[in-house]
Amino acid sequence: MAGRLEGKVAVITGAAGGIGAATAELFAAEGATVVGVDLHDGSPGDLALAVDVTEEHAVTTMFAQVREAYGHIDVLFNNAGISPDDDVSVLDTSLEAWQRVQDVNLRSVFLCCKHGIPHLLENDGGGSVVNTASFVAVMGAATSQISYTASKGGVLALSRELGVEFARRGVRVNALCPGPVDTPLLQELFAKDPEKAARRLVHLPMGRFARADEIAKGVLFLASDDSTYVTASTFLIDGGLSGAYTTPQ
Ligand code: NAD
Repeated sequence: MAGRLEGKVAVITGAAGGIGAATAELFAAEGATVVGVDLHDGSPGDLALAVDVTEEHAVTTMFAQVREAYGHIDVLFNNAGISPDDDVSVLDTSLEAWQRVQDVNLRSVFLCCKHGIPHLLENDGGGSVVNTASFVAVMGAATSQISYTASKGGVLALSRELGVEFARRGVRVNALCPGPVDTPLLQELFAKDPEKAARRLVHLPMGRFARADEIAKGVLFLASDDSTYVTASTFLIDGGLSGAYTTPQ
C-alpha cells in the first residue's frame, strides 16, 4: 500500500528535536522524502541541512538547495522553537530574552512561509504548511513565559491568515497547537523538580503529557491528503487540556 506522503518532499525545521524527529520518522515511513533542518548537522532525513532559520539568506538558500536536489517541495513543517529559562514573567524578562524568542519562534516561521510557500504554489497539486504554535496560544499560564506565549500567539494568527489567503490556490496552512509533550527537555526539567510537574499534570484531563509520536500523527494528518478540507485551523492536540475546567481525580 502506498504511503500517505508517497512522492512528497517535506522540509522539517527543528528536525533534531523531540517533535521534529518523531515527525521525520513518521513522514519517511509514509513515503515522503524528508529534508531535516536544524542548527547542526545530523538531523534525521534523506537530506540533513544545518541552517539557522532566523536568518533570511540561510532560509532562501535552504529552499533553493531542496529544489535543486528534488525538483519540488510539497510540505513545510515549520517547527523550530526555543523556550529558554530567561523568558519568564513580563516583569523579569529582558528585552534581549524577549527578542531572541521572537526571532526563533515567530520570525523564522514568517521567513519559512515567505520563502517556502512560493515553491508550493508552483506545484500543480499545491501543498501543505504546518506551523508549530502551542496550547499557550489559546490559554493563559500563571507560570508565564511571556515572549514564548506571544510568539506562539503570533504563529497562530499568522497561520490562520495565510490559510485564508491561499485557500483558493491549493496551499493549506494550519497551526499545530500541542499540549505539553514528554520530550527529553521536559523530562529533565520535571525530574529535577517533581512539584513543577505536578503543578501542570493536575490540569491535564488524561493525567499525562503527550508523546512526540502522538503529535507527529497529527502533523501527518495535516500534511497529507487526509486533510484536504482543513485549513486556517487551530489544530489542538492537547489531551483535552484547553477544554477542561476540573479534571478527573
Ligand atoms: P526541541 O527543543 O526538542 O526541538 C526544537 C529544535 O529546534 C531543536 O532541535 C533546536 O536545535 C531547533 N532550533 C532551535 N533554534 C533553531 C534555529 N534558529 N534554527 C534551526 N533550528 C533551531 O523541542 P520540541 O519539544 O520538539 O519542540 C518543537 C516545537 O514544538 C517548538 O516550536 C516548541 O515550541 C513546540 N511545542 C513544544 C511543546 C512541548 O511540550 N515540547 C509544546 C507545545 C509546542
